[in-house]
Amino acid sequence: MIPFAERMSRLGTETAFEVLAKARALEAKGRTVIHLEIGEPDFDTPENIRRAAKKAIDEGYTHYGPSAGQPALRETIAREVSGAWGVEVNPDQVVVTPGAKPIMFFAILALINPGDEVIYPNPGFPIYESVIEFVGGKAVPIVLREENDFEMDIDELRNLITPQTRMLIINSPENPTGGVLSKENLSAIADMVRGKNIIVLTDDIYHRIIYEGEHHSIFSEPEMASQTILLNGYSKSYAMTGWRLGYGVMPADLAQKIAQLQTNSNSCTCSFTQMAGIEALRGPQDAVTKMVTEFRRRRDVIVEGLNAIDGISCLKPRGAFYVFPNVTQTGLNCRQLADRLLQEGGVAALPGTSFGQHGDGYLRFSYANSVANIEEGLARIRHTLESL
Ligand code: PLP
Repeated sequence: MIPFAERMSRLGTETAFEVLAKARALEAKGRTVIHLEIGEPDFDTPENIRRAAKKAIDEGYTHYGPSAGQPALRETIAREVSGAWGVEVNPDQVVVTPGAKPIMFFAILALINPGDEVIYPNPGFPIYESVIEFVGGKAVPIVLREENDFEMDIDELRNLITPQTRMLIINSPENPTGGVLSKENLSAIADMVRGKNIIVLTDDIYHRIIYEGEHHSIFSEPEMASQTILLNGYSKSYAMTGWRLGYGVMPADLAQKIAQLQTNSNSCTCSFTQMAGIEALRGPQDAVTKMVTEFRRRRDVIVEGLNAIDGISCLKPRGAFYVFPNVTQTGLNCRQLADRLLQEGGVAALPGTSFGQHGDGYLRFSYANSVANIEEGLARIRHTLESL
């Protein structure tokens, strides 16, 4: 047997990909599966963006580029972020990566020493906890509770901050709960950490997918840009998951270190994808608006449908494209339930524990699927639960 490095025992994973593989195996045997597990828009990438990529290939953007990203894209992102958040951002604060995920990995690798504490949302995107533990940091969960509309409790957060706290991760709108941090709470969080030796990693990947009110970012709170890493990308807003394009905005000296990590790993992000990323930000935004309108319609269908099923209760999320219903009244734990829904009902969903121990008692459904499929999924869930 190959002896793996000790650190590999601390690396977690993202279960969505495992459930997807199980679902595909069932499909290979002739079963139909309604896919409500994977977090990716089912829309095509808008046409103007696809066209820009083809043009970039023909123009020769097929070579290595600078590790931190194509200068024109870094400039476009700097302008976009300055405009959105009212904070002056320079291109040397921007690092472009293959998807936004490497920003998490690189930031934690660059900043967290063994024993340092990192506060992260739980239930939350599983990669946070995984990478914190991988580097030997101490993962400190801030529990997001249903009774709090899955928003962080500010007093609880205050109690978790210690002299060892080096990083606070926030994610709004949140995966898996769809929870959104209010401006009031963001200001309170900023007041709590401002001027301390704590970096805030704000995962704003769902910032365009919001149904009520506006999205706020801690990045725009007074003086916070100098201790914040803003993570964002193209996967969700522009239906570009497979293109692998994301970015981080951070203080320039940290950006240099992150670019160095990129030199040591990916070398750079795909050059023609980056050129398409310029068009995505500068071109018409109506495709984004249309997608969000459609997501809102689907959200309403799935929330109403789930609440009509005995044993399930579901809050109406304010952002992202996930619901996180409480399934404790079904009599099964969430892992058993997800398994039976897949094997017996042909519906792929994720158990809440895929998002950390505090996701126990919940399932996550992604509604990035057609209304027809969502309705078929709901009928299958009802039928499976009735026959338990
Ligand atoms: N952050 C959150 C909260 C996510 O849910 C995801 C993807 O599921 C990402 C980041 C990563 O996105 P990307 O495809 O840009 O790597």
